[in-house]
Amino acid sequence: MSTYTHIKVPAGEKVTIKDGEIQSPDKPIVGFIEGDGIGPDIWKASKHIFDSAVKHVFGGKKEIAWMEIYAGEKANQVCGSYLPEETLEAIREFGVAIKGPLTTPIGGGFRSLNVSLRQLLDLYACVRPVRHFPGVPSPVKRPGDVDMVIFRENTEDVYSGLELESNTPESKKLVDFCKQEFGWDIRPASGIGIKPISPEGTKRIVRAAINYAIKNNRKSVTLVHKGNIMKFTEGAFMNWGYELVKEEFSDVAVSWEDCNGDPGDKILVKDTIADIFLQQILTRPKEFEVVATMNLNGDYMSDALAAQVGGIGIAPGANINYETGASLFEATHGTAPKYANLDKVNPSSVILSGVLMFDHLGWSEVAEAIVAALSKTYESKIVTYDFARLMDGATEVKCSEFAEAVVKNL
Ligand code: NAP
Repeated sequence: MSTYTHIKVPAGEKVTIKDGEIQSPDKPIVGFIEGDGIGPDIWKASKHIFDSAVKHVFGGKKEIAWMEIYAGEKANQVCGSYLPEETLEAIREFGVAIKGPLTTPIGGGFRSLNVSLRQLLDLYACVRPVRHFPGVPSPVKRPGDVDMVIFRENTEDVYSGLELESNTPESKKLVDFCKQEFGWDIRPASGIGIKPISPEGTKRIVRAAINYAIKNNRKSVTLVHKGNIMKFTEGAFMNWGYELVKEEFSDVAVSWEDCNGDPGDKILVKDTIADIFLQQILTRPKEFEVVATMNLNGDYMSDALAAQVGGIGIAPGANINYETGASLFEATHGTAPKYANLDKVNPSSVILSGVLMFDHLGWSEVAEAIVAALSKTYESKIVTYDFARLMDGATEVKCSEFAEAVVKNL
């Protein structure tokens, strides 16, 4: 076991991975980063629900050994760095962690702490389930038709930070190189970003999406891309995805082209262009179940879909490397600084990220108990301000009171 300067390792055991399956002990050590801004409020509320649900289900036979790890403003205060090396080491060593939102320090040397965490730990799959809970206000007529899981690739694409600023010697050098080598005319003062999409990166995210569909009895996987225009990046993503179906999944899955849209009892792997997809998730969301896409598309799509079922205050997320088992579950909204320490905001995004974490640990009874209690609370219209302002007859409660109501409904 590594030694840590600031992290105190509690009594408990490590979560491990064997033959691709997560092995959870009775007292797993789980890291938590409470987060900045509204982070401490929503973390406290969520932890109360997590511990109560575990106790409710296992009657004290199992429990989470929480281990505080640091990132963001608190890390800077405690460890003198916004993203201490020992935080990364602890996630690598103990495998599972959950976090609240983090402020990105301006001039702190990071593009974004969240993006850095995902890239440094190679958490290549950003998993965002999107479903509706009855009673939650939504801007669409039939939010219940949305029940999708997005697998967004986390490490490549224009998102990976390979950018050169306009009018710098570096960008000018690249502009000249492109002219000399490829005859490309790029305006000299352009800022430039690079969009790498690799066969390995594509295949591991599509593999994760198909494996999820198999495990969860889903009928289709849709590859979303803009390959009609960006042929060698987004188009290649689609081609490599279909190639993978043939190479590794031909007994359980089939591509649209190979079955003419009739997959029998196999999983149908199809593709759609990103702009059409954004229309169809509004007009016929039932046609999509599991979605695999690249980093930037996935970013837009997850938030657009979240809006259909109640907004980012309720959207959970997980960042996973299925080979190493390293995973980081997280609120998908930001730090909402104007509400910090007011005990006001909706903790549902962290709560539902915890539900994903319990599923990942194989404690699905706990996940189900939390979902049931949460649904009951929404249906009884006991909600935080964000939902209350959109609902008739709601009882508006504080963040901590909402957690208390969920615990009562367990
Ligand atoms: P934000 O913190 O997500 O807040 C935007 C708005 O969303 C809030 O003003 C609030 O809307 C609503 N909101 C967010 N979380 C909510 C919750 N739990 N319950 C209810 N409503 C919620 O976005 P931002 O203001 O653009 O970003 C603030 C900081 O967060 C930035 O430093 C950014 O870099 C960081 N950030 C971090 C993450 C992350 O850690 N994953 C993600 C995004 C942004 P109303 O004002 O309408 O009430």
